[in-house]
Amino acid sequence: MSANLQNPIFTDETAAREHLEAVRWPEGPICPHCGNSDPEKIAKIAGEKQSHRPGLHYCNECKGQFTVTVGTVFERSKIPLSKWWLAMHLMAASKKGMSAHQMHRMLGISYKSTWFLMHRIREAMRDGNPGPMGGSGSAVQADETYYGNTSKRSKSYRKGLKRKEVVLAVVDPDTGEARAHHMELGAGTDVVREYLVKNVSRKSILVSDESRLYTKLGKEFASHETLLHWGKEYVNKNGFTTNNVENFFGTFKRGMRGTYHFCGSQHLQRYLDEFSFRYTNRSGLGVGDVERAELIAKGAEGKRLTYRRPH
Ligand SMILES: [Zn+2]
Repeated sequence: MSANLQNPIFTDETAAREHLEAVRWPEGPICPHCGNSDPEKIAKIAGEKQSHRPGLHYCNECKGQFTVTVGTVFERSKIPLSKWWLAMHLMAASKKGMSAHQMHRMLGISYKSTWFLMHRIREAMRDGNPGPMGGSGSAVQADETYYGNTSKRSKSYRKGLKRKEVVLAVVDPDTGEARAHHMELGAGTDVVREYLVKNVSRKSILVSDESRLYTKLGKEFASHETLLHWGKEYVNKNGFTTNNVENFFGTFKRGMRGTYHFCGSQHLQRYLDEFSFRYTNRSGLGVGDVERAELIAKGAEGKRLTYRRPH
């Protein structure tokens, strides 16, 4: 289901806050200071008095106060929650991403604030605590790609990509999950190994091209299926493919070129998180736009990054 932009959560602050409470606290408020969730020991102290912040709660366990934004990317933001919801819905629904310029016009807030807001939303999209994907019987695809252009006349060069960056991605076609990692240029087998054994269950079948990066590493998995380099082979003799991870790279590159017009290498991981999030929670897997936006709001917890300057 796609979002109805007439929904009051996009215009009314009370509706926006109550919606965030319903999404983050489906079972009732949880104190972010001590973890108390006993409804008998949490009192709502907002509403009656003008002096209180709306949505303020009091925890009888730790004697602390909190609202639904404490301990999230929304905390201390001057941007109204209704605009956060609109931004989350737009980013959740835009397959190729949405430029900060377009978002800034739609939200009616400054470009700089929009830029910070969008990076905070990317942080909320990041899977904060991923376990290994795949498992017994799963064929997880791994591949690396180059990103950026070293030509001084290219847009990516002027945007701060002074060299080619390397991205490593893994996709589990059974669950549809994708993860991507910005590697240091020249990173070798150690870095690839460290990432893969942390992100992919060793009970899985590893599917990759014939790059030497995976030769030794492949032996650590249940089995290792390889395909010939440079897309000459789409399905190997045993029926394995790396099509899914290649499609993921395709969507990522089209979005970076068409929507974001490239980014500096220091922000590349944020964009990878954004594209991985949408790929993993895509409509083809039954996740609608509304649900995807709510997943971002849930992911906002425990992530309070600060950014200092836009590019
Ligand atoms: Zn508490």
